[in-house]
Amino acid sequence: MSQQFENVTCTRCGGTGKYSWNRIELDRCRKCTGCGWCFTKRGQAAWEYYLASQNVLASELEAGMFIWDTIKNNRWVRIESVKASEAIWNDRAIPTMEIKTSRGTHCIFQENTVRAIKNEEQRKQQMIEAFEYQATLTKTGKPAK
Ligand SMILES: [Zn+2]
Repeated sequence: MSQQFENVTCTRCGGTGKYSWNRIELDRCRKCTGCGWCFTKRGQAAWEYYLASQNVLASELEAGMFIWDTIKNNRWVRIESVKASEAIWNDRAIPTMEIKTSRGTHCIFQENTVRAIKNEEQRKQQMIEAFEYQATLTKTGKPAK
C-alpha cells in the first residue's frame, strides 16, 4: 500500500476537474484547480508539514542540492554551483546567493528561504515523516491530544 496525503474526490466537479465555463477559468474547476481531488484537512496539514521540512535558508544552499523550480516547470532542478555575493539595494549591500542551475542563474537573498532538498533519499524521509505526522492528526487537521 502506498501512502499518500489524505485526499477526497472533489465535491464540486465530481472528480472531472471541469465545471461550468467562464472567461477566466475556462472550464477548470475552481475548488480543485482542475485536478479533480482536494486534500482533506488532515492531508492539507500534512502537506504543509512536508513543505515546511523543505524550507532551506538560501545561505545554506550547496552545489549538488536540488531546488524546486516554479518558474517554468514544477520540478526539482540540480544546483550546479553556488556563489555568495551581494546586491546593492536602497544604498545597502544585501548578502545574496547566486544559484546556478540548468535553468540559468538565480540571485536569492541569503536570508530568504527556498524549497530545497539534499537528495531523493532525504525527500523520501521527509515524506515518511509527513505521513507519520498525518497519522497523528484528527479529522480537523490538528494533532490529537
Ligand atoms: Zn473540482
